[in-house]
This record gives sequence, C-alpha cells and structure tokens, in this order.
Amino acid sequence: MIARTYNKGLLVVISGPSGTGKGTVCKRLLEKHPEIKLSISVTTRQPRKGEVEGKNYFFRTEQEFKQIMEEGGFLECAQVYDSYYGTPKKYVREQMNAGHDVILEIDIQGALKVKERFEEGVFIFILPPSMEELRKRITGRGTESEEAILKRFQSAYQELDFMNRYNYVVVNDEVEAAADRIAAIIQAEKCRVDRNHHINEQLLGGVI
Ligand code: 5GP
Repeated sequence: MIARTYNKGLLVVISGPSGTGKGTVCKRLLEKHPEIKLSISVTTRQPRKGEVEGKNYFFRTEQEFKQIMEEGGFLECAQVYDSYYGTPKKYVREQMNAGHDVILEIDIQGALKVKERFEEGVFIFILPPSMEELRKRITGRGTESEEAILKRFQSAYQELDFMNRYNYVVVNDEVEAAADRIAAIIQAEKCRVDRNHHINEQLLGGVI
C-alpha cells in the first residue's frame, strides 16, 4: 500500500478586516482549485447589484434567519454592521465528510466562534498591504454611503488586533500571489505530523 498524507477535508476559515479584498482572493483561489468548496452564507442584507441568490448568498428575511438559528442550522452566525450572516452547518458537514476542503469567508466574530468549536480548522487572516490601500478599497467599492464607509474603515482598523488569534497571515498585496499562498497553507496543513499519525501504520502494514 502506498502511504498517503491526510486526505480528509479541511475547514479553512478566511477572514480579516473589511476591504482587505478577501472575497477577490477567495474567488481566485477557487478558480485555480475547483476541488475546494466555498460555503455560501445566509444573510438578511439586501442583494447588491449583480449578486445572485444561492451563488453569493442565500438572501433571507430576519424572521427566516431566526428560524434557521433556532433550529440549530448554523455553524456560526453573527451580526455584521446592520445585517445578520450565518454559515449553514449541513453543507459544510457534507462536503468535509466527502473529503473536500471547505472555505468559510466570514467576519472575525464568526471566525472566532468557529475556532472555539473546531480547533482543527485552519484560520487565515488576510491583511491589506497598507492602511492607505485599505481606505482606497473601502471607498472604491462605490456601493455605500459616506457614513457606511467611515464605519467600515473604523472597524477595519480595530479588527487588525485580532490577527494574533489566527494560525496564518496573508498580505493581499497581489491577488494571484495571495491565492497561491493560501493554497500552499492548505497543502502544508495536510502534511502536519499531527494530522498524519495513521501514516506509520500504512507504511508498516504488511512489513511487521
Ligand atoms: P458583505 O455584506 O460585504 O458581503 O459582507 C460583510 C461581512 O460579512 C464580510 O466581512 C463577510 O466576510 C462577512 N460574512 C459573510 N458571510 C458570513 C457568515 O456566514 N458569517 C459571518 N460571521 N460573517 C460573514
């Protein structure tokens, strides 16, 4: 038998301050690695122009969201700005059981909740290359009011402190390079000794 390193699905949580471009980095990562699955969240916010139900989010009313929450359907959920967001548990469980890596692109509160429940996850913090660039990215989105932009920038600034709670940090200086670094982290995680105790057995099976 050929010894194989860890081949179960990993739960990879990608978060970081608003405006770091984590969505773009995740999109590029998934284009390059279609075998990786993205968890689609449920949200109560209104769809932005071009967003598609079931592709970007599952858009639900507050009442519907609360019902899913009460039924225990979320792996985590959080209020971000004025809306609620949650990660459906079922999809994540099914994909991981089928051996697929699953990406959660969620906010920091949500990421920390997942970490409390699921230490084996891989927690990656995305940083902007500079605060100046962060401000440009938040403003450049062009879909929000002055007040919403200021709120996002202030909370992004405070959120930088949470980096220490994560396992890895990736600076999004260039989308392609940042996506490649995340793919490399996933590969490295699968080679960790503590995920591969079974390998000795595979190698020695039939010998001793
Ligand atoms: P946006 O409304 O711009 O799409 O997302 C706002 C924030 O909510 C982003 O930081 C995004 O990562 C986060 N977010 C999206 N889905 C979820 C989720 O299921 N749970 C949590 N906690 N945050 C989410």
